Amino acid sequence: MHLNKNDIKNFTLEEFKKELENISEPSYRAEQVFFWIYKKGVSDFSAMNNLSKLFREKLSQSYYIGALKLLKHLKSIDQTEKFLFELSDGNLIETVLIYAWKRKTLCVSTQAGCKYACSFCASGMNGFKRDLSVSEILSQITAIEHNLKHKITNFVFMGMGEPFDNYDNVAKAIKIMNSKKAMAIAARRITVSTSGVIPGIERFKELGLQVNLSISLHAVNNELRDALMSVNKIYPLEKLLKACEDYMENFGRMLTFEYILLKGVNDSLRDIDELAKIAKRLRAKVNLIAYSPVSGLDFHAPMEEDMKIFEDELLRRGVSVTIRDSKGKDILAACGQLAGESS
Ligand code: SF4
Repeated sequence: MHLNKNDIKNFTLEEFKKELENISEPSYRAEQVFFWIYKKGVSDFSAMNNLSKLFREKLSQSYYIGALKLLKHLKSIDQTEKFLFELSDGNLIETVLIYAWKRKTLCVSTQAGCKYACSFCASGMNGFKRDLSVSEILSQITAIEHNLKHKITNFVFMGMGEPFDNYDNVAKAIKIMNSKKAMAIAARRITVSTSGVIPGIERFKELGLQVNLSISLHAVNNELRDALMSVNKIYPLEKLLKACEDYMENFGRMLTFEYILLKGVNDSLRDIDELAKIAKRLRAKVNLIAYSPVSGLDFHAPMEEDMKIFEDELLRRGVSVTIRDSKGKDILAACGQLAGESS
């Protein structure tokens, strides 16, 4: 459909200015086009009515503006919304909008499927399909902000896929999100969550932005982490923690550990002791999340009172810890439940 044309949403502003120079157009026009795409949310050149017809025709000969097809929009009893999008090649991804306090947080996907196939997560159950392009990452946001008129306050890269396995596209998407001439989203409102891909953690500093980094820890020894998260076999715990330490020391940014509580698996007193040691060593905050059921997986969430005990024991050991509500369970939109399936 867009044969031999480039998707403008894959370019940063600087890159698009160069593109325009190549077709003998002044670079300031790139800012005008970005205004229409990111401030107004248009995906059709004909709507850019302050640009000359000639320029719009020229643009449409070489470029298009990527958009996702919304297949399904579900609403949870707790207000959480889930969006199922179809990519141009038929692959499916999901994006989730979570309401908490005055915040509206968008949980963005970075891959169709996931290579790491953590044993408690639905995202990798059907294997890995492919990385999302910069445009496909950004289009989840533009679709929900502009087409569905939601004012999103926070953005987390915690949807389908491992963000640092698609580092270049995720980093470029964040730059465009943060750019004043594009989405103008403050870096501190963006969080990237990794299962522990060390090269990504090392490169994350290169971004030079105050984006938050969160580590999906979920186990505090290699034996259990190997069993739950295949990423640990490539980047074992001690190396991951060393990379986190280096990140903190060189970049001066605090980290958060996400810890999904799996009943009888990672919720013992020994786990509490080890988790406290790790969190204190890295001066990191811990978010405790109750496991959300995935069909076909034999894990269970702890009782609410057991989660509270886990939290209290961490607090007693001097750890900064919060229990995070896992929202949208009834529409399979909670942490670890995103599968990108149409039925
Ligand atoms: S938890 Fe993250 S890394 Fe693990 S399978 Fe799910 S999406 Fe992939």
